[in-house]
Amino acid sequence: MKVLVINAGSSSIKYQLLDVHSAQVLAKGGAERIGLDGSLIKHQQRNLEPVKIPFRMPDHRTAIREILDVLTSVEHGVIASMDEIDAVGHRVVHGGEKFSSSAIITAEVKQAIRACFRMAPLHNPPNMTGIEACEEAVPGVPQVAVFDTAFHQTMPGRAYIYALPYELYEKHGIRRYGFHGTSHRYVAGRCAELMGRPIEEMKIVTCHLGNGSSIAAVDGGKSIDTSMGMTPLAGVSMGTRCGDIDPALVTMIMDREGLDLRGIDDLMNKKSGVAGVSGISSDFRDLDDAQKAGNPRAKLALDMFKYQVRKYIAAYAAAMGGVDAVVFTAGIGENNPDVRWGSCEGLAFMGIALDPEKNLVRGRETDISADGATVRVWSIPTNEELAIAAETERLVAEMRRAKEAGK
Ligand code: ADP
Repeated sequence: MKVLVINAGSSSIKYQLLDVHSAQVLAKGGAERIGLDGSLIKHQQRNLEPVKIPFRMPDHRTAIREILDVLTSVEHGVIASMDEIDAVGHRVVHGGEKFSSSAIITAEVKQAIRACFRMAPLHNPPNMTGIEACEEAVPGVPQVAVFDTAFHQTMPGRAYIYALPYELYEKHGIRRYGFHGTSHRYVAGRCAELMGRPIEEMKIVTCHLGNGSSIAAVDGGKSIDTSMGMTPLAGVSMGTRCGDIDPALVTMIMDREGLDLRGIDDLMNKKSGVAGVSGISSDFRDLDDAQKAGNPRAKLALDMFKYQVRKYIAAYAAAMGGVDAVVFTAGIGENNPDVRWGSCEGLAFMGIALDPEKNLVRGRETDISADGATVRVWSIPTNEELAIAAETERLVAEMRRAKEAGK
């Protein structure tokens, strides 16, 4: 089955066309600067160099049409016609409490996604625009929404309720939701497969460390806690996001710095994290270089990050009453040996110890723990697109079986 995976943002649409059975990416790319001057599509066919194609794309509808044209074009195409696309899988950031799994897109599902606009105002509206543009461009092709929040809907109340007046939860849905669910689910599943053990019997801490970072406690294949909250600002410090801080600081900083709501939001989301502490960069490669050159604030930002990840690993082992495996994934988790090392340092008391040589791996599924360590630590590249495509195929197959049975 060929599935087109769409991740629509406010001015960009990332896409991948995958053959699910062979797990092959036939083509991938992104429409960029939608609605702005200089819009273009970056497109890469399997085994070929990427190309940049300028297109005028005033809106998402045009962008989707151009992406489909490129995929079917003589010059850059990988399919003869749109009929070869069996289904479209959409990444949707927030599914609220309504979605504990992926869903075939119907009018009712779209309404429920719209109801979550207020919870993810930057993400859900463009996700919906992507869905509607695809409905128009490939009518009749089944479309599936895969939610970042869905995997964490198994958390118990004690993990997701904030110690605020309970009516805020009832009135506004204010609670922990968690994000990166598709990635946490995928790498936890891969970890169990690689270890040859049923996931139902495993306790895994998954660390998705990228520009945005979150840690999850996956007990028996289900998320029971995660570090991000109602929004992706919570948890460990990130590229530019502050992570957990004393909540009283929000009004205190607004007062002292004369900031309004937008100002404080900007400060915590875009000017904080490792970029804010180091004053250098949000990119961990730049921080590694600066640390090596002796910059004390780059070292501080990195030390803080590793210390926070380490505390989450131990806390989630406690939350699950044990831990069989820890997984590092995403840009930093897959490629940064120093962060992995520092995040596991001092955890030998609970059976976590890395092998210094194996830990040097980048971007390959590898058990990086020391021989004899009772907890296995893995670096596993995430593959959210493949996970979305596989979910899409599963749901479409289910829908077809149900239709057949109903005939
Ligand atoms: P996003 O959350 O935007 O998807 P990524 O998962 O790509 O981001 O993570 C970005 C971070 O990963 C950056 O801080 C960068 O330093 C790090 N990173 C990404 N690729 C590499 C690499 N090949 N080598 C070292 N670090 C990398």
